[in-house]
Amino acid sequence: MSGEEGRTVVETGGALEGLDVGAYDAIVVGAGFAGTTIARELAERGGRRVLVLEQRPHIGGNAYDHVDDAGVLVHKYGPHIFHTRVERVFDYLSRFTEWNGYSHEVLANVYGTFMPVPFNKISMRMAFGEERGNELIAKMVARYGDGAKVSINELRAEDDPDLVEVADYVYENVFLHYTVKQWGTTPDKIDASVTARVPVFLSEDSRYFQDPHQGLPTDGYTALIARMLDHPGISVRTDVDARTVLDLTTPGEVRIGGQTFGGTVIYTGPLDELFDCRFGRLPYRSLDFVFETYPQDYFQQRGTINYTVSEDFTRITEFKYLTRQELPGVTTIVREYSKPYEPDAGMDPYYPVLDEEHLALHGKYVALTREFADFHPIGRLAEYRYYNMDATVANALELSDRLLADAPATTTS
Ligand code: FAD
Ligand code: UDP
Repeated sequence: MSGEEGRTVVETGGALEGLDVGAYDAIVVGAGFAGTTIARELAERGGRRVLVLEQRPHIGGNAYDHVDDAGVLVHKYGPHIFHTRVERVFDYLSRFTEWNGYSHEVLANVYGTFMPVPFNKISMRMAFGEERGNELIAKMVARYGDGAKVSINELRAEDDPDLVEVADYVYENVFLHYTVKQWGTTPDKIDASVTARVPVFLSEDSRYFQDPHQGLPTDGYTALIARMLDHPGISVRTDVDARTVLDLTTPGEVRIGGQTFGGTVIYTGPLDELFDCRFGRLPYRSLDFVFETYPQDYFQQRGTINYTVSEDFTRITEFKYLTRQELPGVTTIVREYSKPYEPDAGMDPYYPVLDEEHLALHGKYVALTREFADFHPIGRLAEYRYYNMDATVANALELSDRLLADAPATTTS
């Protein structure tokens, strides 16, 4: 691990007054995993002087965590569980943190019965009873193989009556209502890759993820990101909305704070808003997070309970399970309520709404960024992709490789 928590120099200020952008080789917009990884790589491997601009009052992007008034470490923008099978990502982040070894488990509350999700052999027996459940498991194993993961769409395409029975049950009790709450529409109308994230799993393994590396940073995500940004080549300014200082109106020329900037620009925010939505808006889903603290050790039986047939919220997460924080007599939970993102209503964009039309629209904005020689949109928002943290870091490392291969390292004067 390098650096101490909190040593990152973070300045606040909206107008970049007194700042000579010419003193930097790269401007990174956004201090989430994407921007932070690239900032670190450019500074450390490339010797570049990097300025990170973040519109929020803190670093960390959506992975930001903090201690609430009750002393509980909570995730402000929704529960984040790190998991990966990409060794490079795990090794890279492990330079900056240790991991707490937490394996995520989720139960669906189906009319008061708590079944493992992804729906697995244990859920099957709970739903159909021991005998019928085992018959259906045998049928599924004969069809797909033991240990297989089968998306709900794949299962619903079957015509064998036993498989149809399982598909109907899982569709109705796990996917339908939760998806309508989360996306405002039924599972068949959203991109197949979204529900395929949570396949039926022919196993007794009730973990939400099977990746070899999983857990949370021992001291939290904000501390991890602070250590990544803690490099002499990196300056961070929070409370700066880059759109107020970045001028892209002259084709091919990036102007920042009134000055022409000839260096690298990394942009991790939504692209439509950067270009005044000139081709139309990219839709995102947003969330309301409702936090509650209780004077008891624990509130529920697992880290997350999904409400798949009832309630207006999608899920409740109890942070102490995830963080493994030892704090008797008090616990904090969060309920998530999904809604369409409305940019002028003080909401944050969280999930891209993936379909052909909007991916094509996003492509038009990406094409606009190509008019600028060294301008790179990256991350979940700018790439308009449903990335987990590990994919975000993997892509950021790859972009850093390309940027550093294209130009020789600069020496910091
Ligand atoms: P972000 O984290 O969104 O960071 C972008 C940053 O750019 C933000 O801080 C934003 O304020 C800033 N920014 C945007 N526009 C501007 C601007 N104009 N000027 C200045 N700053 C700007 N992944 C997992 O692996 N496991 C999980 O359990 C998990 N749970 C999730 C739960 C929720 C509710 C959500 C929404 C996401 C979850 N993710 C999870 C995904 C994870 O959050 C992302 O993969 C990751 O945070 C993406 O990093 P990023 O840097 O691309 O984007
Ligand atoms: N999903 C569902 N019921 C569940 C869990 C997931 O219908 O109990 C669907 C839903 O459409 C959701 C998607 O699968 O948006 C992906 O779920 P995941 O848990 O990966 O979502 P995230 O954690 O990214 O919000």
